[in-house]
Amino acid sequence: MPFTALGLSPAIIRALTARNYVMPTPVQAEAVPTVLRGGDVWAQAQTGSGKTAAFALPILQHLSSQTRPTGRTVSTLVLVPTRELAAQVADAFSDYGQHLASAPKVITAVGGVSINPQMMDLRGGADIVVATPGRLLDLVDKNALKLNAVESLVLDEADQLFALGFAVELGRILSLLPRRRQNLLFSATFPSEVTALASELLHDPHRIEIKSAPETTPDIIERAIEVDAPRRTQLLRHLIVEEDWARVLIFVATKYSTGHVAEKLRRLGIDAGELHGELSQGGRTRMLSDFHEGKITALVATDIAARGLDFEQLPVVVNYDLPRSAIVYTHRIGRTGRAGASGEAVSFVSAATFAHFQLIEKRHDSHIPREQISGFEPAMVTTIQPPAAGGVKGKRKSKKDKLREAAGLAPGHPLNDPGSTAKPKPARQLKPASKPRSAPRKKPAPAPDQSAFDEKPRSFSWRRVDRNQRGSR
Ligand code: AMP
Repeated sequence: MPFTALGLSPAIIRALTARNYVMPTPVQAEAVPTVLRGGDVWAQAQTGSGKTAAFALPILQHLSSQTRPTGRTVSTLVLVPTRELAAQVADAFSDYGQHLASAPKVITAVGGVSINPQMMDLRGGADIVVATPGRLLDLVDKNALKLNAVESLVLDEADQLFALGFAVELGRILSLLPRRRQNLLFSATFPSEVTALASELLHDPHRIEIKSAPETTPDIIERAIEVDAPRRTQLLRHLIVEEDWARVLIFVATKYSTGHVAEKLRRLGIDAGELHGELSQGGRTRMLSDFHEGKITALVATDIAARGLDFEQLPVVVNYDLPRSAIVYTHRIGRTGRAGASGEAVSFVSAATFAHFQLIEKRHDSHIPREQISGFEPAMVTTIQPPAAGGVKGKRKSKKDKLREAAGLAPGHPLNDPGSTAKPKPARQLKPASKPRSAPRKKPAPAPDQSAFDEKPRSFSWRRVDRNQRGSR
């Protein structure tokens, strides 16, 4: 089905043609007609599925036939979890809407930069505001923005909004919106709080579940390389040089590690930069554009880069530190293999992280053959001890505890036998995440590999989601 069959206007089709979008992706084919009709949408769609255009195109078309908002009001409010995603979504709106008779006024409202220009921009209202929740409320509190005329609300990456602790802000924002409006909710996963919000928010929604589709199935080769933790940076340099990686995104566990690993790479002759949540917005933008423009080969990042960011032509992603969960693993490796390109996702597995990697594989119902690189064969043996009395005192062993225990004691594992022969480089297709993984978020997943880091121990910062304060409409 071509885009024209979805009822989109020639001005929008023109922008899509310029971007070489020939056919709608499955989420676009399903969502666009519903949104054009004014209906609500409940969409489970991964990043990379084309979900931004799925909501942006019909919203733009609708807005083009409406009168402009006045005062300090806004017609469409898009809430996103991160500043980077906000910038990408706002760019997409401006780009798709550039040929409309009257180009839409799109404002990005995010923290980390001065609020004054945003307040100025909001004078006279806006067609579309793409915002992170905290800054949006700051603008409301300063009377720079009114939410009482919002016609369409989009929650993009709703699961991340909760994961990043925005439940309270979200509740307040919802309470400021008019009762009659269109609601569009997009989320890669549906943990209980997102499902509850969706049920509360959406009226007779069109439910869309995009598990995988030929156009969007990522073509990603996953590799797991066994290496001792202290030798990871050397191995990284070796792979960048020997395997001729033009650009590589490297995930580490902590903000501290981004600078530390980037510095070590620079000392080894690799142009490297770092990206984490505490860089100023200017610093983050600069780092991303240096990476996009090829001024740096290696970008060392925390999980801030695992969601939302769209890196075109990113051939390799490396899990220098393993992600804390299978879901984060999926998001990290999904940065490569975007929009039909192929990619490679390499995970470094050490003796201490071996069991954690097995858990990730188990969650994905997959096994990635272990690989060793000549000259970097691990010398350390698996040292994981089963937690005393099954983990938490007084509690039965969890499945994870049992798996860790099994992995730590397994005889004949290659990490117990450093002399074992290297395995050939595996090549396997990423199995796209098949089901919403609604893992209960009672506690953070256990820190997998503290002893494995050659930097500072990792630390997690979690904010409790306050269910009682989640606002209704
Ligand atoms: P998203 O899931 O919105 O982050 O989009 C993922 C990537 O797919 C972005 O690079 C989009 O530019 C691209 N994209 C979105 N829709 C299409 C389409 N219909 N055809 C080709 N590429 C698309």
